[in-house]
Amino acid sequence: MSGTKQSVTVIGLGPMGQAMAGAFLDRGYDVTVWNRTASRADALVARGAVLAPNVEEALVSNELVILSLTDYDAMYATLEPAAAALAGRILVNLSSDTPEKARAAACWAAERGAVQLTGGVTVPPSGIGQAESATFYSGPREVFDQHRPALEVITGRTDHRGEDPGLAALMYQIGMVMFWTSMLSYWQAITLADANGLTAADILPHAVETANSLPGFFSFYAERIDAGRHIGDVDRLAMGMASVEHVLHTNADAGVDTTLPAAVVELFRRGMDAGHAADSFSTLVELMKKAEA
Ligand code: NDP
Repeated sequence: MSGTKQSVTVIGLGPMGQAMAGAFLDRGYDVTVWNRTASRADALVARGAVLAPNVEEALVSNELVILSLTDYDAMYATLEPAAAALAGRILVNLSSDTPEKARAAACWAAERGAVQLTGGVTVPPSGIGQAESATFYSGPREVFDQHRPALEVITGRTDHRGEDPGLAALMYQIGMVMFWTSMLSYWQAITLADANGLTAADILPHAVETANSLPGFFSFYAERIDAGRHIGDVDRLAMGMASVEHVLHTNADAGVDTTLPAAVVELFRRGMDAGHAADSFSTLVELMKKAEA
């Protein structure tokens, strides 16, 4: 820390890192930045950030180092050459990757005298610095507690999931599997609408209402799934099978890509073949727990 002022280093100035460095500047922190492409620091330097001449300088400038890189491979590419400067650093790694890679990186950091806090930011750049935005963290609890005020500059809400460095990455990936597949389902709906002369704007209210209905289904099925109850009292897999085939055929008839609806049909068919026609379609969770043989 320089003087009594709070200070932080941000390495990686993509849209996320830029927003984070900007949020720290807004709160009066002394901010040191480094990025492979130095010009991406220009706007931050104009606002008072210090551009370190190299990664070593960026690391030694502050105990608290925020990493916002594309993935963990980018982290190794960035930090390996400066590994001697890692001792004593707290690496808040907000780069997304797999839980396994987060665990391996925590060991790698520890071997070099640094501590990694893994983070999973759940908002886009526009959400950085906002009180209602949230980030998952995992790693040493006392390190998290000690640096919590700084972490709350990045997002107002912080959720420490445990000591295992993979947990924050896991929570992030749980959100992302839902995000990407949900957004693809939206693209599919727009594609089908377009083939029938409707615009994205035309179907927007219907799309929003459909998405808003999902949380009710999540809650209803969560209890039953945790209890292992897949009774077909309100829905039957056989009904779902017919429905997802209608979806596939409607898309095929429209001449649009059917990769996504065909994959859904495939999963339902496997459930039917396994003898679950009379069970709830939540029984597919049991099927999906195992990789396909
Ligand atoms: P970008 O991929 O746009 O930028 C990340 C940074 O990584 C850039 O500064 C880039 O440097 C650097 N980088 C990539 N590869 C290397 C390398 N081999 N060596 C050195 N530096 C490298 O990512 P974002 O800023 O959008 O996101 C950062 C992280 O946050 C990602 O892991 C992303 O998944 C995650 N995230 C992103 C969200 C979003 O909405 N954007 C939302 C939530 C999480 P250079 O400028 O030189 O290319």
